[in-house]
Amino acid sequence: MLLIRGGDVIDQSGRRRADVLIDGERIVAVGPGLDGGAGVTVLDATGAVVCPGFVDLHTHLRQPGQEEAETVETGSRAGALGGYTALVAMPNTTPATDSVELVRQVRHWGVEAGLVEVHPAAAITAGRSGERLADLAALHAAGVRVFTDDGNEVADAALMRQALELARTLPGAVVAQHAECAALVADGHLNEGPVSRSLGLVGRPGTAEEITVARDLALVRLVGGGVRYHVLHASVAATVELIRRAKADGLTVSMEVTPQHLTLTDACCSGADPAFKVNPPLRGDDDLLALRDALRDGVIDAVATDHAPHAPDTKARPFASAPPGMLGLETALAVVVGPAAIPLERAIAALSWEPARIAGLGEHGRPVAAGELANLCVFDPNRSWEVDPDRLASKSRNTPFAHWTVTGKVRHTVLRGRPTVIDEVAQR
Ligand SMILES: [Zn+2]
Repeated sequence: MLLIRGGDVIDQSGRRRADVLIDGERIVAVGPGLDGGAGVTVLDATGAVVCPGFVDLHTHLRQPGQEEAETVETGSRAGALGGYTALVAMPNTTPATDSVELVRQVRHWGVEAGLVEVHPAAAITAGRSGERLADLAALHAAGVRVFTDDGNEVADAALMRQALELARTLPGAVVAQHAECAALVADGHLNEGPVSRSLGLVGRPGTAEEITVARDLALVRLVGGGVRYHVLHASVAATVELIRRAKADGLTVSMEVTPQHLTLTDACCSGADPAFKVNPPLRGDDDLLALRDALRDGVIDAVATDHAPHAPDTKARPFASAPPGMLGLETALAVVVGPAAIPLERAIAALSWEPARIAGLGEHGRPVAAGELANLCVFDPNRSWEVDPDRLASKSRNTPFAHWTVTGKVRHTVLRGRPTVIDEVAQR
């Protein structure tokens, strides 16, 4: 038996002071003054929030192919320390995760690491080539729900239409787009604007995102039938308005935003520090403020990290040749509730049950209630800490929040009744 004692529970039914008693994999009681009896293991939650474990819709675990940057095990540890109980692993691995065999392999590595559930997303097109569809039906039968060529958009409109038509027939499947018009961002390194011009670098205009989202929504309307479409890492205000209208029209569309797009702008790139290189790029203040508002009011459904580790020697190249991407799993909560100023209850929803719903993970993001699986996060909203890149569990160091002092830290994480983090220390 495990007793989480002295915290405030926050879930879909609001906030209340309550202890949580767990037996085996399940919650057996929630209420004030619980006592597990002799032999119970107590996790102290005094001053802390107890909520459903977080679910990341967008993690790059880099295995297979880039194990020098991250492995399923190191990424899982970073996830558990960030309060996550489930990660959706992006398929832009080497080779691309586009087969049932590789999906099973990645999932198996996750089970071996034993720190979070790893749910592989699969590529939309074979080899992420953008040329022909992968076997989406077979991948769906193997349990895949999220399909994406993330890293690239699916540029060919006819192929995107085919993907949507097929996904419509696969229950729970969602087509997730890295929405940047490939032709408009070719050779671009950062947001197109005064900063890109001052650095003399080719930019990636925000319009590239708007064009792809607008085209895809037109295809979603054409295909019809409740097909599910998701915008990965939205970065511009125009996307918010397109999705707001699509939702008002009853389309089954969703969108995510990253902590970095809620807090950093392209002004961070003015010193050409490759730590701030990411795709889609950091934008301007107006976009950032529109994203915060949309996350608060629910037009943006979820926060996803786009955790993208790169080994220190590759990320230290000059801006134009450094790879895009930033770490995110261990800092997401603190950045969202601190600098991004998202209210606590809304932040928890966007980190747990909203992404669980989008990814079809019915065992995560559940209410903290008797009978439910114990997939839980316990965090101290008032604990301040410095982001020290050398002390992160990730194998890489490329956080854009290096040496920021942030507030809010995960104290314990519980996966199916088993603590994966106790007192800020991973248990494997
Ligand atoms: Zn992407």
